[in-house]
Amino acid sequence: MNEAPRIVDSAIALLADLLACPACHGALEHHSDWLRCVPCRRDYPLRDGVALMTGADESDAAPVDGESVLERHLRQERAAADSGRRLRRLRRELHIVTDTLCSQPASDTLLALGCRGGRFSSPMQSATRLLIEADRHEAVVRHAMERAMNPPRVAALACLPERLPFRDRALDGAVCVRLSHRVSPDSRREAMLHELLRVVSRFLLFSFNDAASLPNLSRRLRGRPAYGGTLRYDTVADIADAHGAVIAHRETVSPLGSRQQYVVLEKRP
Ligand SMILES: [Zn+2]
Repeated sequence: MNEAPRIVDSAIALLADLLACPACHGALEHHSDWLRCVPCRRDYPLRDGVALMTGADESDAAPVDGESVLERHLRQERAAADSGRRLRRLRRELHIVTDTLCSQPASDTLLALGCRGGRFSSPMQSATRLLIEADRHEAVVRHAMERAMNPPRVAALACLPERLPFRDRALDGAVCVRLSHRVSPDSRREAMLHELLRVVSRFLLFSFNDAASLPNLSRRLRGRPAYGGTLRYDTVADIADAHGAVIAHRETVSPLGSRQQYVVLEKRP
């Protein structure tokens, strides 16, 4: 008697059709427990429903300073819940994500890059047939999968943000919030934005530490260096233009100005 397909296998089957080799963008063959790039023959493991597309078998279990990636993530989540200011920012971000998704037609495929345990899963799952939770760390995406409301419609993968393992325009849209300022140097941060715009066909909600924001300008006036990991608005607009996209909307979490600028980039039809 045939066994019923596992839920994780059905999500992986949906995901596999969208993927390409992160190293060479070549087509992938789907084997039972791994994906193999046809042109460059690299293998990418499928481990318990998570596609490991970083190209290196990094062990998330190895603790850094006695704390694993997942433990650090959970500690940061608890700290955010204990801090009124950070909680207000999280609520405001959730509002921005929900508003953006409501302004777009329903999607077949959405990517949450830097998913951090599924913080935007709820509105994103409601807006798409397949949500792809992605993060650099396997343990973090696995945590997001475990919190999914509708597991057959949630796929998960580990990848490098500047080497996304998708075919060109494979996804309807993507959300990448409060990740880019953690990516350095500048060239890698810009490569990540290029990659996000390469793989979406309709829209991208993206946030960045705006070099010209009031907090950064004020630091410069006081002779202190700007906060790290900045991008310039003009640079974001130029990269969008290179991919046939425009900045359709911009806002911050605070009307008085904050470092993070949230932009909706839409591809021209
Ligand atoms: Zn390849």
